[in-house]
Amino acid sequence: MIHASKRAMGIEYAIRDVVLPARELEKKGIKLIKLNIGDPVKFDFDAPEHMKKAYCEAIMEGHNYYGDSEGDKELREAIAERERKKNGIDITADDVQVTAAVTEALQFLFGALIDGGEEILIPGPSYPPYVGLVKFYGGVPKAYRTIEEEGWQPDVDDMRKKITEKTRAIAIINPNNPTGALYEKKTLKEIIDLAGEYELPVISDEIYDLMTYEGKHVSPSSLTKDVPVIGMNGLSKIYFATGWRLGYMYFVDPENKLAEVREAIGKLARIRLCPNTPAQKAAIAGLRGSMDYLEEYMAKLKERRDYIYKRLNEMPGISTQKPEGAFYIFPKIEEGPWKSDKEFVLDVLHNAHVLFVHGSGFGEGGEGHFRSIFLAPVEVLEKAMDNLEKFMKERLK
Ligand code: PLP
Repeated sequence: MIHASKRAMGIEYAIRDVVLPARELEKKGIKLIKLNIGDPVKFDFDAPEHMKKAYCEAIMEGHNYYGDSEGDKELREAIAERERKKNGIDITADDVQVTAAVTEALQFLFGALIDGGEEILIPGPSYPPYVGLVKFYGGVPKAYRTIEEEGWQPDVDDMRKKITEKTRAIAIINPNNPTGALYEKKTLKEIIDLAGEYELPVISDEIYDLMTYEGKHVSPSSLTKDVPVIGMNGLSKIYFATGWRLGYMYFVDPENKLAEVREAIGKLARIRLCPNTPAQKAAIAGLRGSMDYLEEYMAKLKERRDYIYKRLNEMPGISTQKPEGAFYIFPKIEEGPWKSDKEFVLDVLHNAHVLFVHGSGFGEGGEGHFRSIFLAPVEVLEKAMDNLEKFMKERLK
């Protein structure tokens, strides 16, 4: 047998792991309601027409070559303009690196920050690649607490306790996956102050930044004076183009503390050649074009959020916080016969035919919970909630 690397074999991705038992059921002809994967394009959302047209035109006009490793200049200018306007920051195209979506930005970042044994502070619970990628590069993901009763806001005191001499960065995901939390400005300021005290950069995953309900997203990049902030965003969520695999990272670094990290990221970008060329043309159209579509899409999402939030809280044995952003809800399993949240999710899958993701798959702080998406239309959510309610009533008899 030819052995694979332990590094690669150790990778876990809970969101897709539950797909295997689900497939077995589907093979038997059982119809499932899948509320596990956060892909809006699999539901009634799609990339705007002007972006699709620009993508097709780019291909037909012959933009099918290798581009610059840092990304198309015009696109980087459009990104810098967007971030300048949204966050009131002073950046140019040179402060932007275009990537194969936020996932590649994370690979670049952890690749550039970790030699072996360094620690990255991540929210607990957290989007799984933060755990998987930090480990893959030889680092240690260290979860800081987020406080469920306070809408899953980060616990900055706990964050402070988790800092050691090995800490290399503080990562925040806001709006958050899996909890749907939208971080308060006050908390973000505290995080920036803490990062400043320990001379750490803040990694800010802003992929859901315009997907908020009652509140508005605040980026730590808009609050920093000297602390380096690396912001990340892309086409997957707010432009509804998950499959195009395009995103970016931008650097706000008033005191040039990230010079070496940026040089390393440039090297990593060059050995992977370049981001998708025609998709970058479509991204320019997206960034410079109208975002009116977002209003209708957010209205749909809000209706679905309100519905699932109400139903879950009315159900026996389950309670939940209200998501303030993104399209995830992270309820708590208050009571029942299950030994773990994974056992709960598999029991629901086999008997209520609804597929969720177990909370422990999102690392520390996720235990005893499960994640549902609310991208599906209300009729579909209604059926899923009816099935779940019936199931809970039976199990809690
Ligand atoms: N970051 C967060 C917080 C996410 O939830 C996701 C996808 O669900 C990603 C990054 C991945 O984004 P991309 O499609 O840009 O790689």
